[in-house]
Amino acid sequence: MTIKRGVAGLNEEQQDIIGWFDGVAERAASAQTETLRRIIEMNHRTEYLSKWLGSDTEIQQAEGEELERMYTRRVPLVNHADLEPYIQRIADGDDSPVLTQEPITTLSLSSGTTDGRPKYVPFTHYSSQSTLQIFKLAAAHRSRVFPLRAGGRILELIYSSKQFKTKGGLTAGTATTHYYASEEFKTKQKCTESFTCSPLEVISEGDYKQSTYCHLLLGLYFCDQVDFVTSAFAYSMVHVFTAFEGLWEEICHDIRQGSLSNSRVTSPRMRRAVLEHLSPNPSLALKIESKCRELQRLDWCCTIPELWPNAKYIYSIMTGSMQPYLKKLRHYAGELPLVCADYGSTESWIGVNLDPYAPPQTVTFTVIPTLAYFEFIPLVNSQHKRPTDDVIDLDYQEDEPLPLSQVKLGQQYELVLTTYTGLYRYRLGDVVEVASFYKGAPQLTFVCRRKLILTINIDKNTEKDLQLAVERSSQLLVQCRAELVDFTSHADTSKHPGHYVIYWEIKVKDGDEIRDRVLQECCREMDAAFADYGYVVSRRTNSIGPLELRLVKDGTFGNILEHYISNGATMSQYKTPRCTNNPVLLRILDHNTVKHFWSTAYG
Ligand code: AMP
Repeated sequence: MTIKRGVAGLNEEQQDIIGWFDGVAERAASAQTETLRRIIEMNHRTEYLSKWLGSDTEIQQAEGEELERMYTRRVPLVNHADLEPYIQRIADGDDSPVLTQEPITTLSLSSGTTDGRPKYVPFTHYSSQSTLQIFKLAAAHRSRVFPLRAGGRILELIYSSKQFKTKGGLTAGTATTHYYASEEFKTKQKCTESFTCSPLEVISEGDYKQSTYCHLLLGLYFCDQVDFVTSAFAYSMVHVFTAFEGLWEEICHDIRQGSLSNSRVTSPRMRRAVLEHLSPNPSLALKIESKCRELQRLDWCCTIPELWPNAKYIYSIMTGSMQPYLKKLRHYAGELPLVCADYGSTESWIGVNLDPYAPPQTVTFTVIPTLAYFEFIPLVNSQHKRPTDDVIDLDYQEDEPLPLSQVKLGQQYELVLTTYTGLYRYRLGDVVEVASFYKGAPQLTFVCRRKLILTINIDKNTEKDLQLAVERSSQLLVQCRAELVDFTSHADTSKHPGHYVIYWEIKVKDGDEIRDRVLQECCREMDAAFADYGYVVSRRTNSIGPLELRLVKDGTFGNILEHYISNGATMSQYKTPRCTNNPVLLRILDHNTVKHFWSTAYG
């Protein structure tokens, strides 16, 4: 394929997609109306939509905005539980037009780690097409700033989950798994002119440990050609480089010999595919080995630029629940730019990052108005000031959902999606804020998942509140040269008064030991850092007991990851559950608890 170059080194296709998006962003409101019309025209005869929308003639006669009003007046807002009976029928083999006119043959599992239960979501060719579209658009914008060499490689730390068949014979797996198996994934490599270091067999085997070894081995084998390093979410990237600290010697041995460790990689398919690429390279092995020895002395600081000298940036989702991994990622990345990947979900893609230089703290995602029909439920923080000081209780009140054309700067919203894949007025559960506009398209910052995760009585704490409390208190670990690896929580109401239990896994530098006094202080600080008024009042009156910090053994969160992977999750989309009531997880956590501390923050 010959690629013509144009403005700022972009090829014609890249210029086209940037031009296309500028056009739809300019007329974002009408693009939304058209998107809704198309979705309704395709699916109004389905069981679900005809139940709410009524006769064909009314739909056909409705003009743009009238159609939007008719749709939002008649079709109710739903969450996943409301659609579950319909989706279950599809999973069980009902091939009548239940949610979409076109039969659904594939179902995705959304990570669902927040409440511990994966959820089925329909997946159609629109899902892969929109993934390709947003990836191409984002890649074109990155290429403006970081031009890549044509034919370069990407160290792409990606993983498929195991696919399985539902009772009705539909293929089920995570959305990323379906995408990596699609034609669109191959097309993306061709049109972005960057090729994954690992062959498909490495991505698709469904065993993340074997895949990780091969990703690293091939990534290092082609190290001079790698233009950037990427993963879907930052968690998996940190996980891979942490694993590398224990794998590098074997990897160097394999590069030297042109071999593949028999104990690390057992899958015959993966072995064949990887060995095809390798031949002995003793000088490269020597070079990497000596760099790794030096890196080991420096606690693996700057691993990525040292080992991949031509990498121009790191690309991954680093916002929202990925923020706690940023510090470690920065440690491995050194000075390399951290470029935030786009905003989407198994249900639909939402927004693209148009500014590769934007740091994770301020990055915005520009809504793509052709991907789905978006509505925005205004969330008003009813802010009750504490009489004594300035702590604010955030309690969301809802207003009527608004179309994209009516959102306001600085306002927070819960997102509602209507998709080509059969979700109608579906509450996604994410809170976003309108930070700016790109032409007519809102640019969103991700605020948090809406769901409260820690609540015992009148207290209300979200994932973000927990994240902030953990971030503040874990800073005290620096004095013991220790770092927080991961964390989760549980609202323990088994005894009165109930209390928050926060589990921490900590890594301590060789030879150092973490002092109980410091952990006791972390526990106190964390309790005091929950600023929610309901929590503070409950703690003062002892209707919520002292916060408990439980220190778990090394590898405990790895065991939790294993648990999810064995239940169909994928490393690519994995997010540590930040709160759990799941008895299996609590058993893992409690079994591995080595120390307890109780807060003295409220006397
Ligand atoms: P999944 O269940 O794996 O489809 O995860 C989708 C969820 O991940 C979204 O609803 C968000 O809560 C979160 N997410 C996805 N992309 C981003 C992003 N760029 N920034 C923050 N959170 C994100």
